[in-house]
Amino acid sequence: MPEIDLISPESDDRRVWLRVGTLLDGVSAAPLHDANVVYDRKGILFAGADSPPRDLLNAGQMQPDHDLPQYTLLPGLTDAHTHFFLEGGELDPDKRSAFLKQSPTELLDQACRRLERLVRLGIIATRDAGDKDGVGLALSRLYSGAGRPLMPYVDSPGAAIHHRGRYGGFMAEPFEDCLTPRQCVEARVKAGADRIKLIPTGIINFKKGAVTAVPQMSTERIAEFVAAAKFFGKQTLAHASGDKGIDHVIDGGVDSIEHGFFVRDDQLARMRDREIAWVPTFAPVQMQMDHADWMGWDAHVVGNLKKILDAHAKSLVKAHTIGVQVIAGADAGSYGVAHGLGLLYELELMQRAGLSPLAVINSATGAGSKRLAFKEKFGQIKPGFLSRFILTRRSPLNDVANLRKERMIVFDGAVFATGQDVDPGGL
Ligand SMILES: [Zn+2]
Repeated sequence: MPEIDLISPESDDRRVWLRVGTLLDGVSAAPLHDANVVYDRKGILFAGADSPPRDLLNAGQMQPDHDLPQYTLLPGLTDAHTHFFLEGGELDPDKRSAFLKQSPTELLDQACRRLERLVRLGIIATRDAGDKDGVGLALSRLYSGAGRPLMPYVDSPGAAIHHRGRYGGFMAEPFEDCLTPRQCVEARVKAGADRIKLIPTGIINFKKGAVTAVPQMSTERIAEFVAAAKFFGKQTLAHASGDKGIDHVIDGGVDSIEHGFFVRDDQLARMRDREIAWVPTFAPVQMQMDHADWMGWDAHVVGNLKKILDAHAKSLVKAHTIGVQVIAGADAGSYGVAHGLGLLYELELMQRAGLSPLAVINSATGAGSKRLAFKEKFGQIKPGFLSRFILTRRSPLNDVANLRKERMIVFDGAVFATGQDVDPGGL
């Protein structure tokens, strides 16, 4: 491994030229071999197979700063579905409920302690999926403010929108607090929301192996929220599981469907046609199976979980094959899903479901950058994108689990070496 201090001297006026054995740019369907990348602290200046143009190099520079034929360079990872106010790694249900009784200030304080750890894991951006304690909004403000700490990009919808008495009360405020969908959306936007999160369905009833509750929101209601969000220039992400509720969110025209358990093939085709992205979040359901003892699930429930995950895996392969925009998100913070580590697990589950490692990597890098209207450019190795990437000798094209092994993270001028022994405590 090259010494870290060898690849750290980039600055606002010093550029670094790397030649790597393999370049994954975040969107292409094939890797580029023997590629050149030039970057500085602010961003990527060049990426390609040709030699970089002289005017992009430091005066008089004729050779790369580093020739790394054994290395793969890929964009840093984006977790498109996280809940910063929750600690995912904690398995004890009692401790989890005690954790949630803390004040918003305490929850924010714990979330802040995760930020640098995420960068060091190679997570360079996250899309928070909602809380009612303002933790996600506070982090989004922190990121946009002056003198921010070392942290991934964060944006947040603030409190999600649900119906009073229905699923989601721990992360949402009820629609009933507002007079109209437009007013509800406006209140979120005024509070600083970067996007609008809807909870139009319930969750899976694991004992029954199905989504048994009727959807919370009609197609018409969802369409009203979507129209209001568009009026304010915001995207809409929708929690939806169960094919009935999924019909509502597709027809309502949301930008992304979160979870999407029990999605049908014809619905996937409509999602592709309407350019609705899918964030399948395998990890929270897989964790119910991995920790069935803690959850008190018997063999019958475990059987249900297995069936649900197998069907979800088939849907994922189908979605990728027909061209649905699949975006990786771990639902970090949910039971057993630690921040950062949960995304690495999610990628392994997507690979296990049948996606190629490259398709999985693209779903966690370039796909979000293309579809989710982030306020900055990251997730691709192209001129104009931020210099936030991973360098590794353990090719993730052989197995995405290699992303847990030793690697270097380059992040806006900082360079970290990261091993595989990461303490999940607090994540
Ligand atoms: Zn979630």
